[in-house]
Amino acid sequence: MRRIYLDNASSSPLTDHVKEVLIKSYEDHFGNPSSIHHHGRVSRSLLEQARKKIANAINASVGEIFFTSSATEANNMILKRSIIDLNVDHIITSPTEHPCVLKSVEAIKFEHPEVEITLLKVDNKGNINLLELESLLQNSNKTTLVSLMYANNEIATLHDVVAIGQMCKNHGALYHSDVVQAIGKRPIDVSKTYFSFLTSSAHKYHGPKGVGFFYMNMDNIITPMIHGGAQERNMRAGTENLHSIIAMSEALQESLDNIEDRRMIHCTLKNHFIHRLLTEFDDIKINGETETSKAIDHIVSVSFPPTDRVDMLMFNLDISGVSASSGSACSSGIESDSPVLLAIGHPSERKTIRFSFSHMTTLEEIDLTIEILKKHTPTV
Ligand code: PLP
Repeated sequence: MRRIYLDNASSSPLTDHVKEVLIKSYEDHFGNPSSIHHHGRVSRSLLEQARKKIANAINASVGEIFFTSSATEANNMILKRSIIDLNVDHIITSPTEHPCVLKSVEAIKFEHPEVEITLLKVDNKGNINLLELESLLQNSNKTTLVSLMYANNEIATLHDVVAIGQMCKNHGALYHSDVVQAIGKRPIDVSKTYFSFLTSSAHKYHGPKGVGFFYMNMDNIITPMIHGGAQERNMRAGTENLHSIIAMSEALQESLDNIEDRRMIHCTLKNHFIHRLLTEFDDIKINGETETSKAIDHIVSVSFPPTDRVDMLMFNLDISGVSASSGSACSSGIESDSPVLLAIGHPSERKTIRFSFSHMTTLEEIDLTIEILKKHTPTV
């Protein structure tokens, strides 16, 4: 059976170029970047070239880029260490952030009850109210860290990172943004967004899994969460995942070199998919923002009407050859809407599925998915 992969927001396949780079690195560059002999020096030089490529990609300096195992690690580190090292005593975030941000904030609340946590309200499309943020910043006399992502991983809604960054700068607040779903798909220039911290993960832009990086503005130095050797200029101990770091830098560069072409493909797929869903199915809703300027182009969150077959929809798609993601938070086998869907007031009796594309997805695959969906959901 032919399989269709529509779960690129979960993880995306390597491109041929990234695959080649990775294989070559595994074959040739086995020296430890911390070793001072020839093999080590070659690895060190490649590590620093990768750092430079990544720094250039977001208009940062090389000294501001640090490699990690994932965006989850980077988000945990930045939020938790900011409390200790930067005396942050107020975190402003939103209920639509990724669980690795929200769970870190929960852990902070438990361990540091003195830290004030504010969850901004979101509207039914996942937008925050910038006036609410401005008023909170204006009236706060605390050391505040704002943690707001760029593109939402479930419902695609974009936050206006430039406006938020400017606001944080004006009010002396730190700004952390999880840009995992936006980097490589939207240009990012840290001199315009005033990020104090940015976090990213390679496998969302056709790089390998288990590697990410963070940007830390030189004005706001935190200390490590993982202790050991002096890697990453004492910021993150542990031998660097050199092969994956090189591949990550190539994947990011390749995404940026093709940003407009890929974006056009994502938009064409998304518009076609949404048009067919809205015209050929009964009572379909698209969650989050859909306007191109307000939503990331590779994610579509679809809310299906409650029917006796809707609970089986994900399963039926899977056995028919389509891999997509459910919009549920599943614990102990009991499914409920994810925190993001709850935050936007999604009716729990409806079923949400997130479909996410890459430039490798084809219109034919979208059409086949529509035909498969028709077998399992009410059409008009
Ligand atoms: N942040 C967002 C917005 C994500 O979509 C994800 C992955 O789904 C993460 C963080 C976590 O990334 P990683 O897989 O590198 O831990």
